[in-house]
Amino acid sequence: MVHETQDSVGASQKSGNDVYTVPHFIGGKKLLPQGRTLDIYNPATGSVIGQVGVANSHTVDQAVQAAKSAFISWSGTTPPQRAKILFRFKTLLEQNRDQLIRYITQEHGKTLSEAQGSLQRGMDVVDFTCGIPSHLKSAYAGDVGTGVDSYSLYQPLGVCVGITPFNFPAMIPLWMFPMAIACGNTFVLKPSEKDPSCALRMVELAKEAGVPEGVVNLVNGDRETVDALITHPDVKAVSFVGSSTVAEHVYTTATAHHKRAQAFGGAKNHCVVMPDADLDQAAQALVTAAYDCAGERCMAISVVIAVGDQVADKLVEKMKPLITNLKIGPGSKAEVQMGPLVTREHLEKVKSYINIGKQEGATLVVDGSEYKPAEHRQGFFMGGCLFDHVKPGMRIYNEEIFGPVLSVVRVPDFETALQLINDHEYGNGTAIFTNDGYTARTFADKVQVGMVGVNVPVPVPVAYHSFGGWKRSIFSDIGMYGNDAIRFYTKLKTVTQRWFAKDKI
Ligand code: NAD
Repeated sequence: MVHETQDSVGASQKSGNDVYTVPHFIGGKKLLPQGRTLDIYNPATGSVIGQVGVANSHTVDQAVQAAKSAFISWSGTTPPQRAKILFRFKTLLEQNRDQLIRYITQEHGKTLSEAQGSLQRGMDVVDFTCGIPSHLKSAYAGDVGTGVDSYSLYQPLGVCVGITPFNFPAMIPLWMFPMAIACGNTFVLKPSEKDPSCALRMVELAKEAGVPEGVVNLVNGDRETVDALITHPDVKAVSFVGSSTVAEHVYTTATAHHKRAQAFGGAKNHCVVMPDADLDQAAQALVTAAYDCAGERCMAISVVIAVGDQVADKLVEKMKPLITNLKIGPGSKAEVQMGPLVTREHLEKVKSYINIGKQEGATLVVDGSEYKPAEHRQGFFMGGCLFDHVKPGMRIYNEEIFGPVLSVVRVPDFETALQLINDHEYGNGTAIFTNDGYTARTFADKVQVGMVGVNVPVPVPVAYHSFGGWKRSIFSDIGMYGNDAIRFYTKLKTVTQRWFAKDKI
């Protein structure tokens, strides 16, 4: 069990029947939930292992007030002072890596290696924050007039809020709060209610690293908590990652309440495979990109656009055995390649698309929908599924399924492939497999998608670039982490100054 070892600050309280309770974390102290609670499952066993409270508007106000008070002194610290604390935080994350990974796998279900990789991606953002003095350096123009100089300052906003999805319990919180506090803000994090323990532990580690009480707070909950946060008068900025419907709600509500907001939504990522591509390489990469993390990644590939029937036939033949041979089981087992889905409800939703696709006339080439590993019949498992002859307009093409279901669409040429991607409502990630530089360059230039891979199926930008999709995958103009986050978490002030010699006054 994840919570057998109590942490120095204490990740949870255990009750008699071994079900733990995840507290809020406000002003540097744990606060046990009162009122409504939600169950946390181990997706590999299907059993309830924990409970998490739903913070109401009173608890949310406590967290925001703690952050507001802490802002007074935190915003007065220097960037080098903050960098030193963030460097200690980075070291503590490294030292506690195994524990954080176990938390992720136990509550989310993903494999330990996937958990490790995603934690590392989050830690890369913390690395970036260690250079905050340099990132906050601004522009200076001397002599804009006679004896007049002008310079810019990037100043913090105040209390910032982060609301995160279930699929990256470490990485996405780490996209947000380290960047926000590095810029001098204070923070209230609302992690996913499905897997909150990792986020809680990271917030505790931030305190151990020297982040003062109240600078980073955490409240658990669902819509009630989110709505209290995004309408709170003392909250200045909201970062959100989740499904598009909720992203739109959060963005419109937060901005209507005069907050800066960025809300990242869902995805339907297409990968074009050209006739000149290495099809063995492409097939292997596509299976990894579609089925790792059970397809529960906003950058997973869920549509393959095969250019030409020959490419489609060969690709499907090459992918079939790779999909049927995927090792499926609890993410905690070293040999497992694909873990369970996050909840029974989500599993049923994903499985419902298999019937929808068949009714819509797509060809179900691999049907893993009823697969359960032996000894784990109660877990939220299914196997990989592959549809061929999928067409635009079908629900399995239009909608985000967010599970291990890959669709193959056949098109006659590159132009049709490009048009399909550009016509889709989502625009998070995309990729092309080709050996032709001109085709690759044209694709990267013309495609209406925020993150593009050339022979790279999951093109997640590194921490010193910025992350963000286009179209209905984002409600904002500003990306996560990197320089975009510096802009998001600061406001620009420009000073124009002239000094007179004392004897001239
Ligand atoms: P979700 O939208 O259900 O939940 C996200 C967060 O919003 C959670 O903290 C949840 O408690 C809260 N929430 C849920 N319903 C709400 C409501 N009605 N009002 C206010 N708040 C609400 O998303 P999820 O199921 O946790 O995560 C999966 C989704 O996130 C997928 O659509 C995936 O594509 C998307 N995602 C996007 C990115 C990206 O960067 N674009 C990254 C990861 C995940």
